[in-house]
This record gives sequence, C-alpha cells and structure tokens, in this order.
Amino acid sequence: MEPIKTSTPIPLKIQKHSEKEMLFVWDNHEQTKVSYFNLRFHCNCAECVDEWTRKKRITIESISKDVKPVHVEVVGRYAIQIQWTDGHKTGIYPFDFLYKLTKDVTEGKTNGSIEQ
Ligand SMILES: [Zn+2]
Repeated sequence: MEPIKTSTPIPLKIQKHSEKEMLFVWDNHEQTKVSYFNLRFHCNCAECVDEWTRKKRITIESISKDVKPVHVEVVGRYAIQIQWTDGHKTGIYPFDFLYKLTKDVTEGKTNGSIEQ
C-alpha cells in the first residue's frame, strides 16, 4: 500500500458562503474563501488557458460579475469540477491549486485578478 500523500490538504467541505463567495474547509482545519468570479476567472481548462503557452485565453472583462456555480462535483480524489451559470463546465480545479489560490485570496496576497 502506498502511503497517503499528505502534503496537499483535502477539502472536507465546499459550500456556498454568500451570494458571491465559496467557502472551503480543509482537513488541516484551515478555512479559505474565494469569490465565484475569481474562481471562474482562474479556470485552467483548454478553453480558458492555452495548453502550450499557458496564457489565458479569456479576459477578465469576458467573465460575468455575477457568475455562480450551478454544480460542483468532486473528481477522483484530487480535484473538483465546476459547472457555471455562464454554461462553462470543462474546468477542473485540483485541490492543490484551489488551496493555494483560496489561501492567497483569503490572506490578501492577491485579489485573484492579476495574471501570473
Ligand atoms: Zn475553462
């Protein structure tokens, strides 16, 4: 048996925090929040990010300010897939990516809208 990898926290709870924010409760007891808008903008799928250059193919202006998740589903043991009110549903958010993004946003290190 492989030991369970513990370097990346696993979300125990993913829930709607408000009309604009999603709340994550992680298995290391941290809680992080991120706006739906940020989460949608950070979609890493091939439609949103060029697979070769890793450059965003979407602009911040192209995202609706009041975009919301319609459906959130856990994919395997490493990611969630989100379906949005704008019809987008190919985005998969790995836990390590989510953790970093939401933690940075929660701690005010980034407002999430700056390209990296
Ligand atoms: Zn996408």
